[in-house]
Amino acid sequence: MALSIGLRPIGNLAFTPPVRPGGRRSAAALGCGPALLVPSAVLGLALARGGARGYRYRLMAGPAKPVEPAVLRQLGQETLEAIARFTASVPTRGVWKDLEPGELAQQFETSAPEEPRDYGQILQKLEAQVFPGALSWQHPKFMAYYPSSTSVPAILAETVIASIGSVGLQWKSNPIGTELEVVVMDWVAKFLGIGPAFHHSSQVGGGIIQNTAGESMLNIMICARVRAHRRANPELSREEAFYQDSSKMVAYLSDQAHFSAEKACRLAGLRVRKVAARLEGNYTLNPSDVKAAMEKDRAAGLQPTALILTYGSTNTSGCDDVKAFKDLAEDDLWIHVDAAYAGAAWSLDQFRQDAQAVSEVVTSVNMNGSKWFLCGFDSAFLWVRDRKLLLDVFSASGVFMADVEDMSIYNPEFKDWSVPLGRRFRALRIWMVFEYFGTSGLKSYIRQAVDQASWLRSKIEESEHFEQPVQTVFGLVCLRSVHGDEVTRQLAAHLAAQGYGLAPTKIADRDALRVALGATSTTQADVEKLWSDMCEFAEAGSNKRQKR
Ligand SMILES: *Cc1c(COP(=O)(O)O)cnc(C)c1O
Repeated sequence: MALSIGLRPIGNLAFTPPVRPGGRRSAAALGCGPALLVPSAVLGLALARGGARGYRYRLMAGPAKPVEPAVLRQLGQETLEAIARFTASVPTRGVWKDLEPGELAQQFETSAPEEPRDYGQILQKLEAQVFPGALSWQHPKFMAYYPSSTSVPAILAETVIASIGSVGLQWKSNPIGTELEVVVMDWVAKFLGIGPAFHHSSQVGGGIIQNTAGESMLNIMICARVRAHRRANPELSREEAFYQDSSKMVAYLSDQAHFSAEKACRLAGLRVRKVAARLEGNYTLNPSDVKAAMEKDRAAGLQPTALILTYGSTNTSGCDDVKAFKDLAEDDLWIHVDAAYAGAAWSLDQFRQDAQAVSEVVTSVNMNGSKWFLCGFDSAFLWVRDRKLLLDVFSASGVFMADVEDMSIYNPEFKDWSVPLGRRFRALRIWMVFEYFGTSGLKSYIRQAVDQASWLRSKIEESEHFEQPVQTVFGLVCLRSVHGDEVTRQLAAHLAAQGYGLAPTKIADRDALRVALGATSTTQADVEKLWSDMCEFAEAGSNKRQKR
């Protein structure tokens, strides 16, 4: 009712259509009621008077209108309040949701509403029907998969990106979108110690933001295939290089590689040869095993074309020794490193030399800014040593695009670097995250997970109840009970009942638990509590065993 109070004194104003900068009169002609014509500032005032929730936001009803600053400000504040309430409530919400598939969907109508809803109602539904169905990845006890850390600047940047509402088709369509992507991809490369050959400033290599690691690898494997054809037959036209018979081409990867790596090879038309990684500490590909597999394939008339090495496998964070494959890089083999999770660790001194090795050896490398890096989803970084390898495959244009005469450092035409033409302004989010935390803040966040994990590892080493099936070094700890798989499964159930979001897995065919640290809210105290909960479980078990 605050609404009518707000409107009555300004009745005259309500009939004066506001004039837009272009000079044209706005919505009056569209048949909207007078209320729609209230200037934004007045509307904002009207809404502001009545206090918090339960507003009649119906004023916004009707045909879509340009974004009105006062409306945005008002509704934005209310939305931020809802987000803040949600964020504050995360620790009290369970990690896993006790839901059956379909339970959530059934709370929504089967068709979209015909009439516009009050924004207050939308927010109420957001709080009642949406937030409760979201898995609490930011919960302090979230230790499943790998972290998906978000942050204040990452959250806010998404709104800024939407407010700009431009589409990066090419430099001209959003100059800052392209230029900031060039800037931040070099920032991230430097931060991680990925060598200058991969920086845009080299004008040869460079980096691009993709949706996911899987898509990065798909794009890269297509390039590997096309490059192999062109090398085998330099006479081929660009067009013909796509249509050659690739059925003899083979991509090699560890049996510990992410399934999306395998999928990428297959989709790109390459045969997949999985080579068994050796356990030796923590699953690593042995170069002689890879070479033997290649020899065997060559003898059978096949053509080794690509090798995907993993730095930080998803199950156990095992790493292939990239440097040990250097001699293969000198052949016609495309070597790619998937460091989706663990690449973040290169920012720390103790892992720096691994980034150095990657820089020396590989043709391309990917790393996810959405995992252990505070940048939020999606932020899949991909760097190549030679941008021409991408351009050979992906460049395409239409008469409706601006001519690009000057392909300078800051105008790389990212549409020619991968599949999409329209590109989100993700670079803005990366930029805001780096500005907000600085490289020192980012490093201390990354170091924190390593420190917490090291602490937990040292406890497990001293323990008579638990053991580590593999030696991990990043923020992941893998463990199992020394008393066998059954007890490990009981431990998993016990910790789940205590509210931990841990993902049970298999390591070397035995049950194991993955403790993936890196949620920003997980403190040392949380890790110590986890350990004491584990010990409590173990003590209870040994009492039982003694009685028996
Ligand atoms: C998480 C992960 C992936 C998959 O990442 P997406 O971005 O979801 O495709 C691939 N490889 C490794 C090593 C990962 O940890």
